[in-house]
Amino acid sequence: MHPLLFSPLYRTYLWGGRRFETHFGRQLPAGDTFAESWELVDHGDDQSVVCTGPLTGTTLGELVREQGPGLMGRHAGLKAFPLLFKLLDAKRDLSVQVHPDDARAATLTPPDRGKTEAWFVVDADPGSRIYAGLKAGVTTADLREAILGGTLDTCLHAFEATPGDCIFIPAGTVHAIGAGLMIAEIQQSSDVTYRLFDWNRVGPDGQPRQLHVDAGLEAVTQFGPVAPRRATHTPSGDADLSPLVHCDYFHLDLLTPAHHGESRWQLGGDDAPHFLSVLSGDLRLDPSWNLPALRAGECVLLPASLGPQAISGSPGTQALHVSLP
Ligand SMILES: [Zn+2]
Repeated sequence: MHPLLFSPLYRTYLWGGRRFETHFGRQLPAGDTFAESWELVDHGDDQSVVCTGPLTGTTLGELVREQGPGLMGRHAGLKAFPLLFKLLDAKRDLSVQVHPDDARAATLTPPDRGKTEAWFVVDADPGSRIYAGLKAGVTTADLREAILGGTLDTCLHAFEATPGDCIFIPAGTVHAIGAGLMIAEIQQSSDVTYRLFDWNRVGPDGQPRQLHVDAGLEAVTQFGPVAPRRATHTPSGDADLSPLVHCDYFHLDLLTPAHHGESRWQLGGDDAPHFLSVLSGDLRLDPSWNLPALRAGECVLLPASLGPQAISGSPGTQALHVSLP
């Protein structure tokens, strides 16, 4: 197998914009509501498709099922790739949501995974806010009253976000991404979202969007505020892999650059696939692959069978690294 590059799958929603173009230099079709760019997905009909090399046109789902250990290593046998990675351009506030955990999602028709997710703030307009968890002491009864009264925002723990913030959102946590943020998100591959509050907005038809109050409140299992976390700097000043979130479902690390000159990282070799998303600078894979450097906004999936990989980057290069525990 080779390193795998996939075509982004764009999702347009009213809250999106054109920042994938202005921030990452991508070419977008006409329109001003590009909200999500799915970079790695294998969930039903939503499939990443390989865009270069001999496997061009193959879906991630086909690779997971047909290549088995070659792609998945010690995770071979899974019916689908368990994680979804996307970039989000929040020109406007997203609705306030909660996702169920695995046990609750398994009882749905059709059954799905729960959704634990983590965000990395790629870019932030001044004053942009993240809503993560609840103010201390807020109960389910308080939430219900606030939803019915259109004041749920008063219950939410909110803070101003800056680039480099990482926010871990376990399933059952009330959350929203605020206007002005560009976010990279890793999550369990799942499609179950309960909308609790939509900022009292109405859609193009003049009607408010549907809320899922009862199911959503039952899914809330995490109370209290969620604070942002940041990668720790290396005292040596060498390029490093700084852990952001290591949970049961995924490991998310930041490839931090060397303070001076070229950065080098060693990845893989643990018989599992590894995923990289370049946020700034450019990232070069082992020269034997003969691939052009990955630029900001580009991603790559390194199959398990590649073994240890030497990665390098020009000064200032930053990337996210996702792997399976
Ligand atoms: Zn979410």
